[in-house]
Amino acid sequence: MSPSQKKWDVSKIQEWPPEKHEAGAVIPEAGNAVNYQTGGWRGERPVRDADKCTQCLFCYFYCPDTSVIVEDKKVVGFDLEHCKGCGICAAECPADAIVMCTETDFEQNGGNE
Ligand code: SF4
Ligand code: SF4
Repeated sequence: MSPSQKKWDVSKIQEWPPEKHEAGAVIPEAGNAVNYQTGGWRGERPVRDADKCTQCLFCYFYCPDTSVIVEDKKVVGFDLEHCKGCGICAAECPADAIVMCTETDFEQNGGNE
């Protein structure tokens, strides 16, 4: 069995000492996500309709990745280097102002909103 096929025995994981957690299974330092472009494997991206948006900021508070960009207390876009495309912002938006769009739709013309 190759290392990539290895299955961890996670029984009694609650009792594991720190040294039993293998590299890749831990966050080595808090707040390091900013150093990685975690949006690279996103399949869909959020697109906001500014005319529908009421600036309630729900999307900002619900985003688990701090990827909703707010300036002067208003949503202005999405941090696409870190947005993972989970769609929570779209699901929670009370104004239906956000839709998730397939990433391949943007390969030709780019754009943030
Ligand atoms: S949740 Fe929807 S209405 Fe509220 S700020 Fe975000 S996009 Fe705008
Ligand atoms: S799709 Fe997910 S990660 Fe991206 S902005 Fe919305 S809630 Fe945040």
